[in-house]
Amino acid sequence: MPPPAITELVRALADVFMPRYCIICGREVDHRRSADICPKCEAQIALPRAGTCPKCCAAVPRFGGSCPNCHNMSLAMNESTAFGVYAGALRDRIIEFKFSGARHLARTFGYLAARAVSETWPDVRFDAVSGVPLHATRFKQRGFDQAQGLAAYAARALGARYRPGLIKRVRPTESQVGLTKSARIRNVKDAFTACRAEHVLTALVLDDIMTTGATMSAACRALKRAGVKTVYAAVVARAAFAPEDAAADVPTEDRGGEHEDQP
Ligand SMILES: [Zn+2]
Ligand SMILES: [Zn+2]
Repeated sequence: MPPPAITELVRALADVFMPRYCIICGREVDHRRSADICPKCEAQIALPRAGTCPKCCAAVPRFGGSCPNCHNMSLAMNESTAFGVYAGALRDRIIEFKFSGARHLARTFGYLAARAVSETWPDVRFDAVSGVPLHATRFKQRGFDQAQGLAAYAARALGARYRPGLIKRVRPTESQVGLTKSARIRNVKDAFTACRAEHVLTALVLDDIMTTGATMSAACRALKRAGVKTVYAAVVARAAFAPEDAAADVPTEDRGGEHEDQP
């Protein structure tokens, strides 16, 4: 394997001499841009932050101050943000990233997640940044951990320390796709643990998408249990809120420790 400095040099030269294309519209992108997305698409698909739930970043009107997605959940993250909505071309690219080995998208997704983070929390400094990790078995099958891949780029864009070993998925879980909200919460309960988090006070956890927030919350809860005071969560895309999730019955025992929800 070539030394990292050579890899960086090759990448820098490729950036200058190889054409780059917007992952959304396919038009050529100026090589000086940090990511493969044109300014027009970036502006168009960015989620308006006003009106989204600070806790689960669902873009939904809140009735009487409570969010229809997370009012009956005890999410461990202090706050959440997302770059865009999980729809259209952004959704298609995320599916390619996750399931078709399109690893080159990690840089653009990391950049987009970092943009959402710096716009939402401009004054927050993170002691550590990590992705929501895959379990070792899944990682072996896939050969790539997409959340960690984008987290590395996001950390670089934010000037924060990337800590890939900060969170570990200690048991394999079923896919969350198609599960009800209460089943999602049960499925990921105690699936994560934190490693060497002693000196981390403020952490940022990243993933590609968020639906109810159950998986993200389970990863953030592991950090809270290890003593991390404030945990922020960011994703590239937020799935549109599904009203059936609002009606889902969440058993009390699945709600986790209420105290862990406090900053
Ligand atoms: Zn574009
Ligand atoms: Zn919410």
